[in-house]
Amino acid sequence: MSPRSQLSRRDFTRYSIAGGMVSAAGLSHASEPATKGSIDAHVHVWTPDVKKYPLDSKFTIESMQPKSFTPEELLSLCRPAGVDRVVLIQMSFYGFDNSYMLDTIVKYPGTFSGVGIVDHHSPKLEETMKELGKGGVRGYRIHAHGNDATDWTNDEGMGRLWRIANKNGWAVCPLINPTDLPAIEKLCRQYPGTRVVIDHFARIGISGTIDEKQLDTLCGLARFPDVHVKTSAFYALGKKKAPYDDLLPMIHRLVDAYSPSRLMWATDCPYQVQDGHQYEDSIALIRDRADFLSPSEKKQILQGTAERVFFS
Ligand SMILES: [Zn+2]
Repeated sequence: MSPRSQLSRRDFTRYSIAGGMVSAAGLSHASEPATKGSIDAHVHVWTPDVKKYPLDSKFTIESMQPKSFTPEELLSLCRPAGVDRVVLIQMSFYGFDNSYMLDTIVKYPGTFSGVGIVDHHSPKLEETMKELGKGGVRGYRIHAHGNDATDWTNDEGMGRLWRIANKNGWAVCPLINPTDLPAIEKLCRQYPGTRVVIDHFARIGISGTIDEKQLDTLCGLARFPDVHVKTSAFYALGKKKAPYDDLLPMIHRLVDAYSPSRLMWATDCPYQVQDGHQYEDSIALIRDRADFLSPSEKKQILQGTAERVFFS
């Protein structure tokens, strides 16, 4: 056990006694209250109103599954879990048109932050990013789309995106597979200081098993002080079955490598609430089941990191 883990165990015990939360078993899992103030750092919203918000030409109405996931549908799920702020991730259906996300941010002041998608080859890249920044966008999603992410390391437009993000304190948010991690490492060396937030554990475990070598690589990126990881999309990783306990050792390793101050929890709704998966089961994994975390470390992963990166 690392020194950090020992410390957090002590903290937890102390808190439990002081807070009167100690059960007969010592560390109660069953009845912890909803954590007020939590931030869900990764959700997509969309509307069936494709007249007002047209889809990108690569998508049809049939590709929207579920048919609708509006901010109202989202808030009805997350508020009972104590989640009152959410980072919206631009949905692929809308291509480079971030307007539904921007309109949602305006409609619920103080509730949403945004991660946009831009064309990094556009000559107007900086202008576009500045405009989106005014609308509450704090990060930019990059997606390898099956291409080797190493292309990014030789791409002038991608370099501009990283530099503009760095200058403005915005995050670059790669949606990648574990095999793309060496490319991210190279980008971190090329553009030091740019804030990076890796989605969904770099999808380690998507094949059904957690590959320790891949996890070593992800943990190795912790030596770059601006790299963060989303502990998210539990429905899609490992056994892909609630209560997702098989993901706890991976989360524990990331906590030891990055510390909670560079990890943020997220659901990836609406996908976390399909096929019998529940919103509550996602937050419960960190809040109730990760007993290697102290209450303050849980709060950091459930709120503090996303607050610093996306709401300040
Ligand atoms: Zn997503």
